[in-house]
Amino acid sequence: MQIINGKDTSNKVKEEIKLEADKLIKLGKTPALAVILVGNDKASATYVSSKEKACNLCNIKSIMYRLPEDTTQDYLLSLIDDLNKDDSVDGILVQLPLPKQIDSTKILEKISPDKDVDGFNAVNVGKLSLGLDCFIPCTPKGIMRLLDEYKIDVSGKNVCVIGRSNIVGKPIANLMINSNATVTITHSKTKNLSSITKQADIIVVAIGKAKFLKADMIKDKAVVIDVGINRLDDGSLVGDVDFENVANKCEFITPVPGGVGPMTIAMLLENTIKSAKLRK
Ligand code: NAP
Repeated sequence: MQIINGKDTSNKVKEEIKLEADKLIKLGKTPALAVILVGNDKASATYVSSKEKACNLCNIKSIMYRLPEDTTQDYLLSLIDDLNKDDSVDGILVQLPLPKQIDSTKILEKISPDKDVDGFNAVNVGKLSLGLDCFIPCTPKGIMRLLDEYKIDVSGKNVCVIGRSNIVGKPIANLMINSNATVTITHSKTKNLSSITKQADIIVVAIGKAKFLKADMIKDKAVVIDVGINRLDDGSLVGDVDFENVANKCEFITPVPGGVGPMTIAMLLENTIKSAKLRK
């Protein structure tokens, strides 16, 4: 069994990104990411601070907007409009979830597709499903990079994706199909999930249920990618995989923390550099 180390891989990616950012700065283009946080959600505030820190580390300018909980949808739409028009801004990220008075679909659609570094705008989602060049959502993109880094070929493999969210499940399924895997997408209404997971060479779990995937649900030598982030009552973080019991049965497995998580931010920076290069 080999543990896929997302922290080391993300550090390596960040070093590459810093070099790219420095090259752009020398050419007179400072890559810049606008990050908008609305409200007081503690987890969101932590994610946003990590993104700000990572930008600073890689010489990407971060432009932070920390807006109050009662921010109106119209205000947010007009702020995005301004950022869309501002040529010094390469990427726009709105941290989700948003307070209930704001329709997140309307907000994501407002972000210009060529600054949509999260890859959530319908234009980028459509391009991804067509296999065209686009901004790929950061977590699935990070998963593909980890597989690549560990030379895990997905072509011809049976892949089971557990969870069908727009930010992880659906885009990772598309990326796997585009890489010639045979993909089964499962969700909360799937019947007899184990019979599907047991056939899978690669399992990607993204459901948000602590230690959900058990050892008796996988075949020997499977590759298990754990996207889940769950905080237990004792304050510890665990994934969607029962890591202690599953790990020994796997060929490769990602830990939580230190697996997929660190790659997400690295891919956000990579998407921002991609946008800055296109703008330059
Ligand atoms: P989400 O939008 O909450 O969707 C959860 C998905 O899991 C849904 O499709 C749901 O099915 C499915 N599901 C729930 N219970 C299930 C069950 N018992 N069996 C099979 N499927 C089940 O999820 P998300 O936003 O993708 O997040 C999933 C997890 O990943 C969370 O823990 C989140 O914190 C984490 N996450 C981590 C990162 C990272 O950077 N590491 C990034 C994003 C998310 P239905 O569609 O039928 O309801």
